[in-house]
Order: sequence, then C-alpha cells, then structure tokens
Amino acid sequence: MADKPTLTTTSGSAVPSNQTSRTAGARGPLLVEDHQLFEKLAHQNRERIPERVVHAKGWGLQGRFTVTNDITRYTRAGLFSEVGKETEVLSRWSTVAGERGAADAERDVRGFSLKFYTEEGNWDMVGNNTPIFFVRDAYKFPDFIRTQKRHPMTNLRSPEAMFDFWAGQPESVHQVTILMSDRGIPRSPAHMNGYGSHTFSMWNADGERHWVKFHFLTQQGHEWLSDAKAAEIIGQTRESYQEELWHMVQDGNFPKWTMHIQVMPEAEAMEVPYNPFDLTKVWPHDDYPLIEVGELVMDTIPRNYFQMVENAAYNVNNVVPGIGFSPDKMLQARIFAYADAHRYRLGTHYEALPANAPKNAEVQHYHKDGSMRFFTNDFGNADAYYEPNRFGGPVADPSVEEPPMTIDADAVAARFEQEESEADYVQPRALYSDVLDEAERDRLHRNMAGGMAPVSDGVKERWLAVLGKVHPDYEAGVREALRTGNHGDPSLPVTDDTPLVAAE
Ligand code: NDP
Repeated sequence: MADKPTLTTTSGSAVPSNQTSRTAGARGPLLVEDHQLFEKLAHQNRERIPERVVHAKGWGLQGRFTVTNDITRYTRAGLFSEVGKETEVLSRWSTVAGERGAADAERDVRGFSLKFYTEEGNWDMVGNNTPIFFVRDAYKFPDFIRTQKRHPMTNLRSPEAMFDFWAGQPESVHQVTILMSDRGIPRSPAHMNGYGSHTFSMWNADGERHWVKFHFLTQQGHEWLSDAKAAEIIGQTRESYQEELWHMVQDGNFPKWTMHIQVMPEAEAMEVPYNPFDLTKVWPHDDYPLIEVGELVMDTIPRNYFQMVENAAYNVNNVVPGIGFSPDKMLQARIFAYADAHRYRLGTHYEALPANAPKNAEVQHYHKDGSMRFFTNDFGNADAYYEPNRFGGPVADPSVEEPPMTIDADAVAARFEQEESEADYVQPRALYSDVLDEAERDRLHRNMAGGMAPVSDGVKERWLAVLGKVHPDYEAGVREALRTGNHGDPSLPVTDDTPLVAAE
C-alpha cells in the first residue's frame, strides 16, 4: 500500500474505499452521501461522445516529418524552410462509412489526416487514400453519405441506394473505379498512399502563388486485400489495422511515406483542358510531375487512444502562412463543415484539447467562455479581453495576408458549366485502359459485379451504361461477371433482384 499513490476524487481528496459502498447497515441500503459512488457511475454514463458522422472508425500514430528537398521557391511556410527541418505530426487514418465498431478490412475509401504541429500554428492535411472524390459539389455530399449509411427502414447498408446515386452522378465513376479496384481494401494504413485530394495553394516570400496537390506515397508498397481475403480476416478479427500498426511500431518497423507536391503556376489554371479545382479529377503526372518534399515517419503509439485519436479534430482551415486554399468548391465547403462538426462533437474549445492544441506555436486569441475553457488568455493583463485595447493585447499581423486571388465572377454561367460532361470519363478511361493491367481490370470487373449483385435491374443497367461511357470493355467485363456470378462478395447479402424496400 505504502508505495502506491493515493486514489483521490476529481477534486483531489483521498478516497477511503473504491470497492464497498457506504450503507446504513451491513446489508444495505445505500446512503446517498456516498457521493464518490455516484460520481463513478455518472462518469461511466458520460464516457461516450457522438461518433463522427463520417470517418468514425480510426487509427492513429504520432511521428515526425523531415524536409528532404527545398521548396521555398513555392512557399514561405516555416515547416518547409530548410532541408533537415523536423516537425511533430499526429496522424489519423479511418474508414468513411462504417461506425466506430466497424471492421477495419472493409471496402471503402480511407481517410488520411495529418496534423503538423508547426512553429507557425497547426497545419492539418485532411485527405484520403485516393486523389479524387465521388462528387465535386458539397450540395451532393449529405445525400451521398446517406447512401453509404444505413437505410432508414431496414437499418441495413443499401447497395441499391449506393448504385442508384452513383448512376445519377456519373462524375462518381472515377472514384468508384478506384474503390472497386485493388486499392479499395488496403492491407493496412501503412500500405496505402495519402492525398490532399483538393487543389490547395502555396505562396512564397515574394507573394507569388502556385496551385498545389499533396501526395504522400507509401514506402511500404501498396498491398491490398481481395474481398474473399478481407472476409476471412474480418471473421478472425475486426481490428486488423490497429493490430498491424501496433505490431509494426512495437517491432521498430515504423511506417513511412514520402511527401511530394504537384505544382501549377497560378495563371495556368485557366488554360488546362479540365477544371483543376474539380475534386473528381487528378492532374496528370506528365503535365505536373511530382516534386519530392520530405519524409513522414510515424513511430509512436499514442499513450491514450481516446485522448489523442478520438479527440483529434482535423480542420482543412488549419493552414499556416504560405499554404492556402483554392476555388475548389468541396474544399470551400469543408472550411465551414469541419469546424462545425468538431464544435458539435467535442465542444466549443475543442482546439484546446491535447491532440489539437498547438505544441510549437503560442495561441493568443480573444475567444471567451464555453466548455473546455482550459486557458486564461489574459496576456498577463486582465484588462486585455477585447480588441482593440490599450493594454498590450495581441493584434493581427497583415504580413501573413494571402496574395489577392483573381476570380471569374460569372456565377450563373459557372453553375451550369459544372454539369456532367465527356470530361468526366476521360480520366477514369485513362485509369482503366492505361494504368490497370489485364489482371487488375479482371478483378475490378468482379469486385464491381459483387457490389452490384443485390441491386435492381434498372439500377444495374443505368450504372452499366455509365461504365460503357468510360470504356466498352469495362461495361462488358462487369456484365460478364454479373452473368456468370464470378464475383461473390460475401460482405453484401445477395437477395433477389429487387431492393429490400420496393419503390412505391
Ligand atoms: P500515370 O501513369 O503517370 O499515373 C498513374 C497513377 O495511377 C500511378 O502513378 C498510381 O498513382 C496510380 N495507380 C496505379 N494503380 C492504381 C489503382 N489500382 N487505383 C488507383 N490508382 C492507381 O498517369 P496520369 O497521371 O496521367 O493518370 C492516369 C490516371 O491514373 C488518372 O486518370 C487517375 O485515374 C489515376 N491516378 C493518377 C494520379 C495523379 O495524381 N496523376 C494519382 C493516382 C491515380 P500513385 O503514384 O499516386 O500511387
């Protein structure tokens, strides 16, 4: 006893017993004055917070980023200021659709988020393991996510809803093709790339802006699971990613990525034959080659999962001087939606939690009260609680203002230009015919057919027509796999040819 610390209440006074309630007699009843018992039960009732609407299941590590190549000609951001410079990083990888208890090895896009604790504040790279996304406009996002989640009546995931939505949004075919390709079920987060996906910007010390895309290429190599292998793994463990990351770090086999950027001069954005701010499109490597930036090594398991991974709040608006946004509409919408989601899920001052608080930059703001007011922020003078003030409180620094952005202001014309066009099929076609080899295409056909098998004939035909616009062999390959039943994704129940709840 003597060498163990004393158990205390949350107010710091010693607790006499943590095993036996205070009662009126030896056999009860309980005395209400046993406040510590009620405190303990009340805490248990409050151990859960709302799970994320998307990206609920996650895995995270701590580590560091080291600059290996000088990119100061593109950015004034301090974290890239010299070769050899190191910055602490907190990662969180995730599946998009599954709930917090979902199995790790499910076919889904993966989130790939990095929080860089820089000396100029936190930079959050909030990306995915794919360079593109299903939709290019945030109006479509809530509907899209609904199709990935549970049906309101059956409370089951609904392949009918997924393919019905995609068939009505052919811009999705690029992302669905990657999802149904080998990369759709990575072996673990260590075996996949990360992409910023959106177009961002960088500006240098002379105020010159370039558009950029971020790429984090796995050094472990791409490894993926077939549907059958994933089903086998899920039968044994639902936590295959957490287990793999745990063992890798424990064995000193730290997962690593090489960071690259693609760079487009500002004026070129109006000249390329596709919209470079469209989240359903990549920038071809031949036109915009990858430029190496540095190495990411994730070598530490956080001491407390909930504190550092569940509480981690990534925000696309957490940028630092020298890194900025672009006109990408999905990015612009995320600037609102992410901070809003965190305030709802974690509370007003979520940025003050240990995972989110800057480690290497001073935080000096005039935000005031609310839950989690862990900070004093009186700047050494209690009178300095508004701005402007004459008491030495912090003031804004105009030198970090982004260079002005030129905007095409015809909003109505722009709105209609964004509808479906042949351009939506060019890049998936390049992926299908130029990047994937025959065996990969064959697996793509079978994975797609497996996903579509439970779907009604009408939706099947509409989606097959979209695949046909990408490439006739794509449509034919999936048709053949559907006909022969040469797929069999055991994770999707094959019922009859109609949706579970028939349309009226
Ligand atoms: P490249 O031949 O230069 O690039 C093809 C890229 O495809 C590879 O570098 C690799 O990206 C990626 N890739 C390989 N296998 C798969 C797969 N199963 N699923 C998804 N991506 C895969 O050609 P382009 O740059 O002209 O692009 C052609 C097509 O490749 C694009 O339309 C797009 O579909 C796809 N792609 C392009 C990327 C880009 O940023 N340009 C990135 C990823 C895919 P990585 O090196 O990033 O692993």
